[in-house]
Amino acid sequence: MDEEFEVLIIGAGPAGIAAAISLAREGFEVMVLERGEYAGSKNVFGGIFFTHQLLKLLPEALENAPLERAITKRRFCVLSSEKEVGVDVKIAAWRDKPYNHTMTALRGRFDRWFADQAETEGANVIPEILVSELLIENGKVVGVKTEPGGEEMRAKVVISAEGAQAFLARKAGLMAKELPKRHMITNIKEVISMPREKIEDRFLLENGEGVAIEYFGDVVKGNFGSGFIYTNEESISIGLGLTIHDLINSKKTLNDFLEDFKKHPTVRKLIEGGETIEYAAHMIPEYGYNHLPKMSMPGLMLVGDTAGLINGSVYHEGTNLAMGSGLLAAETLIEAKKNGLDIGSAEALQPYRQKLENTFVLKDMYKFRKVPDFLNKFPHYLQEYPGHITQWLQDYFTVDETPKAEVEKGILNKIKKDIGLWRLTVDMFRLGRNMR
Ligand SMILES: Cc1cc2nc3c(=O)[nH]c(=O)nc-3n(C[C@H](O)[C@H](O)[C@H](O)COP(=O)(O)OP(=O)(O)OC[C@H]3O[C@@H](n4cnc5c(N)ncnc54)[C@H](O)[C@@H]3O)c2cc1C
Repeated sequence: MDEEFEVLIIGAGPAGIAAAISLAREGFEVMVLERGEYAGSKNVFGGIFFTHQLLKLLPEALENAPLERAITKRRFCVLSSEKEVGVDVKIAAWRDKPYNHTMTALRGRFDRWFADQAETEGANVIPEILVSELLIENGKVVGVKTEPGGEEMRAKVVISAEGAQAFLARKAGLMAKELPKRHMITNIKEVISMPREKIEDRFLLENGEGVAIEYFGDVVKGNFGSGFIYTNEESISIGLGLTIHDLINSKKTLNDFLEDFKKHPTVRKLIEGGETIEYAAHMIPEYGYNHLPKMSMPGLMLVGDTAGLINGSVYHEGTNLAMGSGLLAAETLIEAKKNGLDIGSAEALQPYRQKLENTFVLKDMYKFRKVPDFLNKFPHYLQEYPGHITQWLQDYFTVDETPKAEVEKGILNKIKKDIGLWRLTVDMFRLGRNMR
């Protein structure tokens, strides 16, 4: 109890380990406490690891890290019950290093490797320790209480990298006590094993290439959320997520949604013949920039998902914001120490938020700041448009004797009936205004 560590980090995900490596390199005494059996054992994500922050920290990582495939094709689809409309972006140059910084990964393997790198740099990563409480004295976090055993560990600074639910940060008062049901996305994911050649044949990929497909619309029955399929070396990750609010209202389980998604005619053939080898659920904190928590208080900093650092939009980025914030938290402490400050003081931690604002982390979140509230306020974009758009395109491309001019007239009449021209104009204007 008398011993005081310099920095305690809660959680060995990308945010916590990025901070740990950066601090250990500068000679800080760093202890990472991880509740899982090993780093990554409890971690779930869809599958794209955005590597630009990783390479800043470990420039050789593309040679050494257990990454799966380089994503050379991204596909964005709108589903309705039996239809799909999609846009493909396939770029040959993404086959070359650094692979557009977009690679698939399996967290059980990646996080374990990443934590090993932190240990090599001199940090201690201790698994099977759950932080049950923050110790707070006179408004300052001074350490943590751990289980099993109820041991107390004191530290000059605690970095909470505990992930999406942020129980400890909530208890410390840096954000609302309750999970925000309209801004927490609850997700389900399966990993389906499949031979390498079959994946490459089925998804039209060269050796080592991968594809990332994002699905909107019927995948979550028009609720606020989306689905995905990503290809790994010898498996496929498939999953979806929607807000807790919409899930409760749907009266269905996440598994019901996933089973329907897997049966969709355009999805079924992609996963056919594979065997499910992993099944997991996890949250994404999609608060958006306007609802971010306080990023620090004396003795405590929040990084990654704990701090709500997710760029939902169409980019679906989290890992790079997590690592970016971990690096900036470390930078804040390194500078404070160099300046002779008490590294747990409010003065020392105060620059952290501005550092986030100055980089892609909060610049990107600011750009898409209106998106989460917009989609919650106007659910018809996700509920009505996918069905209409796929129907209008079906009509447009249906081949029979109907003259094309009449086909177009028919679609225009449908648009008038389905949406109304005035409402369509207003909707498009509003969409444009809220997506930037
Ligand atoms: C289904 C799904 C799909 C996603 N897809 C993508 C994607 O394709 N690309 C992308 O970039 N991002 C994606 N994300 C988001 C991404 O996973 C997160 O942004 C990222 O993992 C955040 O990293 P982190 O280190 O902040 O938190 P986490 O990775 O969640 O790590 C938190 C760590 O803290 C540990 N922990 C928690 N509580 C305690 C405690 N009390 N004591 C000790 N240890 C504790 C956990 O075991 C875990 O190891 C997805 C998320 C989900 C759920």
